[in-house]
Amino acid sequence: MIDKDKISKAVDSIIAAIGENPNREGLKMTPTRIADMYSELFSGINKDPSHCFENAFSESHQDLVILSNIEFSSICEHHFLPFFGKAYISYIPISKTAGASKFAECVDILSKRPQLQERLTAQIANTIYDTINPKGVEVLLQATHMCISMRGINKVDAKFVTHAIRGEITENTLFKEILATNQDVLH
Ligand SMILES: [Zn+2]
Repeated sequence: MIDKDKISKAVDSIIAAIGENPNREGLKMTPTRIADMYSELFSGINKDPSHCFENAFSESHQDLVILSNIEFSSICEHHFLPFFGKAYISYIPISKTAGASKFAECVDILSKRPQLQERLTAQIANTIYDTINPKGVEVLLQATHMCISMRGINKVDAKFVTHAIRGEITENTLFKEILATNQDVLH
């Protein structure tokens, strides 16, 4: 359960702590707005993503399936700033598969928590591997982190690519290209 009242009070203290006036017109409702926003941004806490694949169905298709450009946004747990980008999933079903929206829903649940991009990538791959038991699954996330664009080294265009493979998976050109063009920022 997200305690909006507690968030609201905490944000009020932060506003005062940075030397601003929490009662100023533009800031007055900010603690409430942030509390409402956090309940949406962190709605994936304590949600089990494996439920997305409960109604996976039998399918004889045993060739590579690729889902590309799944948009996601998450909050970096080190700075509480957003990171956002695209997820790419490829898998080879053995007996079970699920609709494309179920994969997007799984990405969404796991994104709506304080996260690390590396962990998010691994959790998506593990959830798919453990629920629909494909021959193999490969997950790639490409994201911009506001904690890098807005502060510190201020690299506005830097993109981070994280990659996870479970089981055996056939190489595909889409993933190869993304990995090749991001060689320098690979984790
Ligand atoms: Zn960060």
